[in-house]
Amino acid sequence: MRAAGITLIFLILTVFYTVMPGTAAAQELAVRAFATYKLTAAYGDCGEGNITKNGHVLNGTFSVSVTGKNVKGIFNGETQTAPSFSIHAGGRGVYIYGKGAPKRLYRGPLTFSVDSKGFLKIINKVQVEEYLPGVLTGEIGDLKQKEAYKAQAVTARTYTLTLKNNHIKEGYNLCDSPHCQVYYGAENIKPKAAEAVEATRGQILTYKGTPAATFYHSSCGGYTEDITKVWGGNKSKPYLVSVRDGDNPRKPYCAIAPKFKWKVKLYFTGLTRIARQNEWINKNEEAVGLRVSESGEPGGRVHELELYTRERRIKISATDFYHGVGRKETWNAVKSCNFKIIQGKGYVILDGKGSGHGVGMCQWGAEGMARRGFTYKQILYHYYPGTVIKYD
Ligand SMILES: [Zn+2]
Ligand SMILES: [Zn+2]
Repeated sequence: MRAAGITLIFLILTVFYTVMPGTAAAQELAVRAFATYKLTAAYGDCGEGNITKNGHVLNGTFSVSVTGKNVKGIFNGETQTAPSFSIHAGGRGVYIYGKGAPKRLYRGPLTFSVDSKGFLKIINKVQVEEYLPGVLTGEIGDLKQKEAYKAQAVTARTYTLTLKNNHIKEGYNLCDSPHCQVYYGAENIKPKAAEAVEATRGQILTYKGTPAATFYHSSCGGYTEDITKVWGGNKSKPYLVSVRDGDNPRKPYCAIAPKFKWKVKLYFTGLTRIARQNEWINKNEEAVGLRVSESGEPGGRVHELELYTRERRIKISATDFYHGVGRKETWNAVKSCNFKIIQGKGYVILDGKGSGHGVGMCQWGAEGMARRGFTYKQILYHYYPGTVIKYD
């Protein structure tokens, strides 16, 4: 009797755990392919005979092009015109390409129509769990640890959910460009990315029952940053606060990141040029000094700087400075707002650590934690304090 009871409980639990993740797996996303390419024609390589249109097998190459508000298609040598065409790519999938656009592999339903600007609109319907390995492959960089990959899989799945209504007015969920999330189809998936998605199937990070805003960055340099210090005071989130990245302030979890420490010398002549470009100073003013006027304690990430001219002091938020200086082509050596300023004669040296905005999960810190034996759950709860992993 007792044995039977335990077996029953075991069965119920097994069913519970296999059914719950299944709900997320059933979620389908309509992703716009080649969103930034402004295509007016596209081609498909059908390959092995697994590509169908209305139940008919397509052979060889097909083409679809814009003609007014309709699309003209040539399928199996037959020309047709309609408001839209739908095909289904089974098996290995179909290669789609266009003029100036790379060949990419897609599986599942694909619809071709014309968008409001007269360009070809290619929509691929893909299950969330099949979409994520493609996303993860692009975002994971050089990380190696399994648990770090799994942490990133949960953040990517959670982030994807928050993007689902981005293009709903245009009739799909998300585009494949950095505007939403980069997704280049079903080919060249890193095996580790696919494994991490499978191992965390359906799991998302929540705060008080709703999906968390799972920001992340390359390396924090020792402390992550409070979101309000980067994107303004009204965006506060209890789980996007500054956390210390490990117990050893000299060697944070992310100290293993390549180019963890960086230095950049800013001559006042160059600083003047950049300050004028960003309209921090007028055309006739010169930058003659720079100092940190506000920084976070105890992390030391810079929040505000003061730029000196001969006549006045100008306050610049660290985020504006980072974008204004850091992203200029020749100045991309400013990798984060985690720096100290060393004064020189006619120049300053920014002596910095880490890379990126510092909010949320530190990717290299996740890698460092995984190396020390922490699990992906411990990693996520460290960088997003107060959150809980749930099944979507
Ligand atoms: Zn988008
Ligand atoms: Zn870090």
